[in-house]
Amino acid sequence: MLTNAIEQIERMVLHLEPRHAVRFLNVSPPWAIAAMQRARFRRTLRLAAARSSFYRDEFERRGIDVDRIDHPSELGDFFTTGEDLRTHGAEAFLTGRADTAFETTGTTSPVPKRVFFSHRELEEMGRTSAIGLYNLGMRREDRVLSAYDISFWVSPAVLRMAMRYLKCFHVEAGKIPPQEFYDRALAYKPNVIFGEPSWLMRLSEVASDRKKWRVKLLFAGGENLTEEARRFIEQVWEAPLYLSYGQTESFGTLGAECKAQNGYHRNDLFFWFETPETDADGYGELVYTTLVRDVMPLIRYRSTDSTRLVEERCSCGFFAERIAKIRSRTDEMVVCGMGNVGPWVFEQVLRNVNGHGADWQAVVKHNGQRDVVELRLELEHPEHRAEVEERVLTNLREGFADFWKNHQMKLFDLQVVPYAPGTLRNGRKLKRVVDDRNMGRE
Ligand SMILES: [Zn+2]
Repeated sequence: MLTNAIEQIERMVLHLEPRHAVRFLNVSPPWAIAAMQRARFRRTLRLAAARSSFYRDEFERRGIDVDRIDHPSELGDFFTTGEDLRTHGAEAFLTGRADTAFETTGTTSPVPKRVFFSHRELEEMGRTSAIGLYNLGMRREDRVLSAYDISFWVSPAVLRMAMRYLKCFHVEAGKIPPQEFYDRALAYKPNVIFGEPSWLMRLSEVASDRKKWRVKLLFAGGENLTEEARRFIEQVWEAPLYLSYGQTESFGTLGAECKAQNGYHRNDLFFWFETPETDADGYGELVYTTLVRDVMPLIRYRSTDSTRLVEERCSCGFFAERIAKIRSRTDEMVVCGMGNVGPWVFEQVLRNVNGHGADWQAVVKHNGQRDVVELRLELEHPEHRAEVEERVLTNLREGFADFWKNHQMKLFDLQVVPYAPGTLRNGRKLKRVVDDRNMGRE
């Protein structure tokens, strides 16, 4: 009864103008949000058990009676993984009619993960994003130019919807070469720019010694960024760069930065966040359950990102609690200027390149300007390094259009570094892809 009333109020708040919504949410008591989370969790769980063949079978197999579950932790060791999405197919997760779908590609396997949504869900996510962007200072009079990649990616769709609520002037450039973006942006003089971090870095290099227009803020979604790179971009544009954190599976934003730039304010109204296993610093894999999705709800979805739930209130005073900046991934995938890369990508790129059985390792570094993928390769003849690099780049061009495009746009460098045979592996297991960038604030 009470949660019903709370839910009515919350739906109403979401439909308010962003400035009213922010004011209202800031004075909501925490117990009201917690009560709503529980009600929404119970509803989502029952829906999944009743309509999705994957969840119905899994719960049955494990003897889980969803009517007795009130909290995600009561599901014990049950989780949903990206591998589940790939092997069972998105259709096994459907609980309602879908209007649209998005994909994540280039992850740990060549098979994309597909996720389905309804227009209503898209609208709600757009409204929520509008509230977050309003909180960062975006207003109706702003002119927005976005370089988000349109192809199968969820973020431009959510942004487009958010712009409808904020009523900003909004042009979508797509992920075009930064040089071209700069030339064409001059005609619009956008005071808000959206893009992926490595792309924004390259745009800032292009713009650093040319004439610039006044920019209010930049916003990056889609991957992580070193603080050093952030400072460079902010200094070029004399404006703050804010980051958001999300996944296609979550329908975009799980959390977004505020002006304090110290962790992401999380969306507890739409997700139930957990870190079931944490280390001594409180970091662990982020696991989330969707709370307002009825086309393809996800129960205890393993994000594969390692972070910490921050309970202390943020200096900005915003009501929502935070997650810390992502520290690492729990799988071997790395999100960088090249794209989302895992071991299988390099296995393909090294096809017919290194001698039979030779070891390799990819290390992602940052050289102050862009990400550098250092491909360490055991070579019998280190003097052939240049030829080997040439072969690797040819394989990249022929096999991975997106990664090649990013290379052409200078979003990353790729270097082959020769190692003597038998020297790469000093333990039993060789970590294939290593992220060696320092993402944290120092
Ligand atoms: Zn804050």
